[in-house]
Amino acid sequence: MDIDFRKYVANVQDFPEPGVLFRDISPLMADGKAYAAATDKIVEYAKSRGAEMIAGPEARGFIVGCPVAYNMGIGFAPARKKGKLPRETVSVTYDLEYGQGSLYMQKDAIKPGQKVLVVDDLMATGGTLAATIKLIEKLGGIVVGTAFLIELTDLHGRDKIKGYDMFTLMQY
Ligand code: 5GP
Repeated sequence: MDIDFRKYVANVQDFPEPGVLFRDISPLMADGKAYAAATDKIVEYAKSRGAEMIAGPEARGFIVGCPVAYNMGIGFAPARKKGKLPRETVSVTYDLEYGQGSLYMQKDAIKPGQKVLVVDDLMATGGTLAATIKLIEKLGGIVVGTAFLIELTDLHGRDKIKGYDMFTLMQY
């Protein structure tokens, strides 16, 4: 059965700041069939790329990435904000669509040479994705692909991450 995934995205004007149109994926998460179907699409892509590990940034990257890892029987490496990880980390600072941020990964989150797929709910400017890729590569991982529920094409995030394969379920 083919699902129209757009029906499960709520469009919220002026969140979190005036002028921003926020694409809220909560309706998709709330619908078991749609959530599973979206996960299955990313699993199919992850398998085609030979992924051995899924990585995703806090927090919606966990929501999208963890079911993919579970389905494939592989691990999940979280990229987290400052002060969340208890052991030794590597870090990267980057620009967001609104503001600046830092992301951290624990040093043993990825094994050198491991094939990693980066997953998040949405790509806007590509800053979060570029930072997550940098973290994985600092740890010696090989980024074999990237996958999102939503790509905001006007922001040209793809230009930031040329050379990496990308799968997106919806484009706006
Ligand atoms: P980027 O770094 O590509 O500019 O922004 C992407 C990150 O910000 C993702 O981690 C994503 O969760 C969050 N984000 C930015 N805009 C939106 C939005 O409109 N909807 C959702 N769900 N997440 C967003």
